[in-house]
Amino acid sequence: MIIVMKHDASGALVDAVKEKLIAMDMRTNISRGTNRIVVGAIGDVQYVDIKVLEALPGVESVVRVAKPHKIVARESHSGDTIVNVGGVEIGGNTVQVIAGPCSVETQEQMDSAAQAVVAAGCRLMRGGAFKPRTSPYSFQGLGVEGLELFQNAARKQGLPIVSELMDVRMLDAFLEHKVDVIQIGTRNMQNFDLLKEVGGIQTPVILKRGMSATIAEWLMSAEYIAARGNHNIIFCERGVRSFETAYRNVLDVTAIPVLKRETHLPVIVDPSHAGGKAWMVPALSRAAVAAGADGLLVEMHPTPAEAWCDADQALSPDELNDLMAELKGIAQVIGRTL
Ligand code: PEP
Ligand code: MN
Repeated sequence: MIIVMKHDASGALVDAVKEKLIAMDMRTNISRGTNRIVVGAIGDVQYVDIKVLEALPGVESVVRVAKPHKIVARESHSGDTIVNVGGVEIGGNTVQVIAGPCSVETQEQMDSAAQAVVAAGCRLMRGGAFKPRTSPYSFQGLGVEGLELFQNAARKQGLPIVSELMDVRMLDAFLEHKVDVIQIGTRNMQNFDLLKEVGGIQTPVILKRGMSATIAEWLMSAEYIAARGNHNIIFCERGVRSFETAYRNVLDVTAIPVLKRETHLPVIVDPSHAGGKAWMVPALSRAAVAAGADGLLVEMHPTPAEAWCDADQALSPDELNDLMAELKGIAQVIGRTL
């Protein structure tokens, strides 16, 4: 950590900063330039509140040199982390496409969705049993019964499952129903109690980006999970809020290379909640894979027009098939497989 003193800071103020740092169990190193003095703080600075130092008289600014997101930072781990989900690797050379309906509706719907997922060549399935809806009058998901229907359908096809957890009190039900990947949705990216709870288990977690979250905030949310011991974290970019109304959210493609540089953990993209329309999904998926995403989370429904949730953004089974064929080509060009 570096403390930059104001150009007119007196020697006494520099000494006061030095003493404050020593009182915080840190060593100091004073560097005197022509115009100003810079105090280097050496030691375990992760618990130091920058604001306390910034408030000291004579201090111009305080800069952290080490990343505050210690465990998830790329510098903490050489190479890319591969998260293993029931034998399927996320973060390796193969781009994984997770497909399935927005919400679990009926056994028949889930059975035919699972068949379509396998037929398209996808190795993981999504489906929401607990739905975060904007209106309390919209379908809220089938709850625990939905997890049961989902497992019945997915196990028949040998597919690991991804489902969203919204409430800490449901965690045991997710574990009992052997949900392979717990999705933390956009609206809960900063639900720190929820993050701590999923940090206390080893089930892989897909951490979606908050609607208006900065990358730094997103990384710190992942750090909450990692700090409790669960390092099986997958980031999911799903579009951010903007002034634009022509589509649901802006897919932040730039976030993909930035995250890949900042963290060793896998990064996937949800093109469905980004564009919000099925016809946009192929273009956004191609962009995501080309930009280096390790996978996609795509909504697909056996009969999109009849979906109980997000009908307008669900691909049909045929459209998922076509998408997979297209993405194979993109993956090949960048030296990956699908
Ligand atoms: C979902 O994946 O079904 C969902 C609700 O996504 P998000 O949290 O990105 O809105
Ligand atoms: Mn949805």
